[in-house]
Amino acid sequence: MNYQNNLEFAKQQDQLDPLKNFRNQFLIPRHKGEDVVYLCGNSLGLQPITAQQYLNDQLNNWKNLAVEGWFQGDDPWLDYHKSLSGSIARIVGAQENEVAVMNSLTVNLHLLMVSFYKPDNKRFKIIMEGGAFPSDQYAMESQVKYHGFDPKDAIIEIFPREGEFTLRTEDIISTIHQNQNELALVLFGGINYYTGQFFDLKAITDAAHQAGAYSGFDLAHAAGNVPLKLHEWGADFACWCSYKYMNSGPGGISGIFVHEKHFTDGQLNRFAGWWGYRQDNRFLMAPGFDPAHGANGWQVSTSPILLLALFKASMAIFDTAGDISILRRKSESLTGYLEFLINDINTNQNEEVFKIITPAAPETRGCQLSVVCKRNAKATFNFLAENGVIGDWREPDVIRLSPVPLYNTFEDVYKTAALLATSITTL
Ligand SMILES: *Cc1c(COP(=O)(O)O)cnc(C)c1O
Repeated sequence: MNYQNNLEFAKQQDQLDPLKNFRNQFLIPRHKGEDVVYLCGNSLGLQPITAQQYLNDQLNNWKNLAVEGWFQGDDPWLDYHKSLSGSIARIVGAQENEVAVMNSLTVNLHLLMVSFYKPDNKRFKIIMEGGAFPSDQYAMESQVKYHGFDPKDAIIEIFPREGEFTLRTEDIISTIHQNQNELALVLFGGINYYTGQFFDLKAITDAAHQAGAYSGFDLAHAAGNVPLKLHEWGADFACWCSYKYMNSGPGGISGIFVHEKHFTDGQLNRFAGWWGYRQDNRFLMAPGFDPAHGANGWQVSTSPILLLALFKASMAIFDTAGDISILRRKSESLTGYLEFLINDINTNQNEEVFKIITPAAPETRGCQLSVVCKRNAKATFNFLAENGVIGDWREPDVIRLSPVPLYNTFEDVYKTAALLATSITTL
């Protein structure tokens, strides 16, 4: 697209946007009488207008049906989670029986590690991206220790080369090869939360498998943001949260993917609970765990219906928007516009005042741009906030800005960049 640095261009793009009406399906916080420019969907997505209704419906079922709600009503609670499998399977590129909607993200990561991290004295190493989201680091450390290994020996973190901000796929692959005799698992984020880099998940999966290891992904920043093909890529497992790009509310329900090739593997450990038991016989309450076929066999506890209801409100919007590739097309042009405008500021200043550390190639990033502010970083972030732009701040000097295709506009992006330009002269 031939971008232009002016408000008319931005407004015109919004007019032409086939997804423009989706913004009206979200509640947008206000600042001094105007909608905020919300570029923080990478942290907490906005509330769908329908969320209250979905929640109320289930509160009403509880009120009117009480325990019978498990079996009666329009959408009995016993199968409620299953009504979400189709939507989430499309988003992560899986078969319906390869996904389950359950728990929260780090909990799911631990549960999947029980199945897919089975170290022995020969194979015990885990490769992950350096500077992974802290919860993932803590989860890996504690898993390794739980099995009696020292994280210093067992966890290999891959960092960018000197002077670079993001990882080269060739370096990831060669680290996997170098460790192939001792490697148990490659556990990567889909998109790194700090840099916004979208890793080549297929290449990582292939290399992990060649090395005789499992490949698993934390898709917190990827699910609902970029197209994924977990089944086709042959990933062994994955998990994600739904409160970032999938707008399910603070602490909303998470989900897992387990590739169907593992469904009949009796060697996999799992921490079982009754909700993962074969549904047809669950209420016989018989001794001996007989898991449901598919990812639902990894469930542990009774479905949290109220959280599922909030997630369902959001999935209905994704279903209406159509294939994730449609959102992605807009996402690429929105983020491309933000990149263009920031680069334009730098060009006008004859200096890289705002350094974008997110990779430039669209296939190596999602909607987020991570921007290093070379001058007055914190003051710049505060200046944006005072003027109604909500991004998010990462120490020591990074502002993350994530225009989301469902509810952000080209005008949002334009306003943000205009404020960044103003900040240079006023701060
Ligand atoms: C957001 C995020 C989390 C948060 O995990 P919770 O268990 O939902 O608190 C974990 N890992 C990554 C990579 C994230 O981006």
